[in-house]
Amino acid sequence: MPVYEYRCQKCEKSFEATQSVHARAEDTECPFCHAQEATRLLSSFASTIKGDHKPGFAELKAKAMVNERMDKFAKLPPLNAKRNVPPPNTSSDSNPITGAGS
Ligand SMILES: [Zn+2]
Repeated sequence: MPVYEYRCQKCEKSFEATQSVHARAEDTECPFCHAQEATRLLSSFASTIKGDHKPGFAELKAKAMVNERMDKFAKLPPLNAKRNVPPPNTSSDSNPITGAGS
């Protein structure tokens, strides 16, 4: 049986209720104040599946992969730079005297 999320209008507490798909929100009793004024909250995963199922699932996956690659790619330059940059003691780059004497 599915678990539904409800929010009580009276005491404004949210709670979960395991009910049949035929259960109605107005029949659901709040476990805190026992009022039958709960509204059903749409679980996020259900709405996501409904929204993205047909058009963009593969695209989303590809996008996620690209993002992952970009993330890895973005992490590479600093690593390489760290290797190539000489220790801070022998910084010839920031020394104008040794740099100009070519
Ligand atoms: Zn309540």
